[in-house]
Amino acid sequence: MPLADPRPILAAARSGRYGVGAFNTTLLEHGEALVAGAEAAGAPLIMQVSENAVRYHGGLRPIALATLALAEAATVPVVVHLDHAEDVDLVHQAVDLGFTSVMYDGSKLPDDENRATTRRVVEHCHANGVAVEAELGEVGGKDGVHAPGVRTDPQDARRFCADTGVDSLAVAVGTSHAMASRDAVVDLDLVAAIAEAVPVPLVLHGSSGVDDATLSTVVTRGMTKVNIATHLNKVFTRAVRERLDADPKVMDARKYVAPARDAMAAEVERLLGVLGARGTAARL
Ligand SMILES: [Zn+2]
Repeated sequence: MPLADPRPILAAARSGRYGVGAFNTTLLEHGEALVAGAEAAGAPLIMQVSENAVRYHGGLRPIALATLALAEAATVPVVVHLDHAEDVDLVHQAVDLGFTSVMYDGSKLPDDENRATTRRVVEHCHANGVAVEAELGEVGGKDGVHAPGVRTDPQDARRFCADTGVDSLAVAVGTSHAMASRDAVVDLDLVAAIAEAVPVPLVLHGSSGVDDATLSTVVTRGMTKVNIATHLNKVFTRAVRERLDADPKVMDARKYVAPARDAMAAEVERLLGVLGARGTAARL
């Protein structure tokens, strides 16, 4: 199926009050697991390549081409998204490679500069048919909207959308990145207030720290794109470790990576059910 535009997918999810899973791919097998899980759930999928993954591979092109090929071979709609790009040049590379979505993260910049740069990124991306997610900065917050305790103001979020023309917005409602335990306390009333105030779908980062019940609830309160990376990494690595522990003589990498890929695919399918997305691909 051709690569999907995230805008109609997120719009349908926003009005249907379910979530769209956005999961990161660093290895080829991660990408395979994400597509297999989404196909099993009959749900649309956002596959994300982060700036950190690009740094790990020493460039965007190899991981991008592999991810794009997996997306095009999928039987459900798949978006290929550049996650957390602070480098505008990397955004341009992703657009040139055929990504349908990017996140420009200017949250570390002074507020005025973040708005102006995001506006320029949006102009470039929209001229090329690419959607843009952005993140609102927070004065004094080193980790932008992801610093624990930081909260997005609904009216500020509304102004940010008007100033920049972004297609979706990452907001701070109680989660932070790379949480190993699923005990974040999400401010559900704030989610509802921001969803009411802004005209675009909201994005939850750091969702690995959110338990199943809260994930199910937060999408009914107006959260739409749900980013989960660390939690799936844990599932993948646990399966590798179990396999290696069970057979100290194993040499062929496929012998321990394949079970990890299967475990990750099963967890992706399960999470898409938690987000209420099961079977929604057929309605797009
Ligand atoms: Zn994030």
